[in-house]
Amino acid sequence: MNKQKNLYLLALIFISACSQNESVGNNSEAEDQKTFNWRLVTAWPKNYPGLGMAPERIANLVEEMSNGQMKITVYGAGEQVPAFGVFDAVSSGSHQMGHSGGYFWKGKAPAAQFFTGVPFGLTADEINAWTNRGGGLELWREVYEPFNIYPIPAGNTGTQMFGWFNKEINSLEDVRGLKMRIPGIGGEVLKRAGGIPVTLPGGELFTALQTGVIDATEWVGPYNDLTFGFHQAAKYYYYPGWHEPGSMLELLINKDQWEALPKHLQVIIDTAAKAVNQDILDEYTARNNRALRELVDVHGVELRKLPDDVIAEFKVIANDILEENAAKDPTVNKVYQSYKKFKEEVSAYHKVSEDAFVEARND
Ligand code: CA
Repeated sequence: MNKQKNLYLLALIFISACSQNESVGNNSEAEDQKTFNWRLVTAWPKNYPGLGMAPERIANLVEEMSNGQMKITVYGAGEQVPAFGVFDAVSSGSHQMGHSGGYFWKGKAPAAQFFTGVPFGLTADEINAWTNRGGGLELWREVYEPFNIYPIPAGNTGTQMFGWFNKEINSLEDVRGLKMRIPGIGGEVLKRAGGIPVTLPGGELFTALQTGVIDATEWVGPYNDLTFGFHQAAKYYYYPGWHEPGSMLELLINKDQWEALPKHLQVIIDTAAKAVNQDILDEYTARNNRALRELVDVHGVELRKLPDDVIAEFKVIANDILEENAAKDPTVNKVYQSYKKFKEEVSAYHKVSEDAFVEARND
């Protein structure tokens, strides 16, 4: 912890040094010292472990790194705007910042889904690489520009679980008529396979599952799912999370207000979000296994792998949907071509590096 803090302080010193040079002539001294009190709305319950802590940590880092010049107050879903009202709140400028997942906004900007992740797509490391070093970030900013939003990557859940079921899935037949909470393109895949996808915010899932409003739900993975108590409402826990291979979270910033910030505060926000993007992934990697053992050993959850033929069919459907969506919308196509090319290239190398190594190690 101390080591981490020291690193942040070093980063702060470095950033201060850079921004002093860069801001010469850009900002008046008064502007550089003005204080900012911003409000950040999220799609998660307040202080929710893992993903919900990302905006809290960004707010703390920004306040420390800016020596109190910038304060960000974080609101949980429903405190100021509903979970799915975050994008509009930031777009309109009623709130300066938001924290959420891009795939929630598929109705407004269909290409936004690629910046969370798509079925059978990039893992956490891979989506970070595409975003930060493979052209993804520039495309993302282009997609959100018409909404007056400036996005920054801000957390990753790692590979998720397929989720909680009260019905066994032994064949594609069992998917027909299945009412499941599953957002994004994963939901479209389920629909084409005969299921009924539903989009509900996290806070409503336990009751929906327990009362039978839905037959199944995906959420994140063992660490988060345990906190919602899904094991008390469903019997089977299915993997793998083919629909969310490494979901990236987003920090949304109203673009006008971002551009009006002094340069050094922009660098502080960007650096804090980058640190938290990795920190959240590390937290999931460290906690998921322990939570899974508790679910299975203490709570008697039945861990199941989806049948191979069901996974294979979902993969065919997912690719069809991605191709069809791209053919319908030039913006989606532009993002899809970049994502697809990166995935082909990165997976060719991972086949002989990480994938081959993990296989050798775990055998
Ligand atoms: Ca999920």
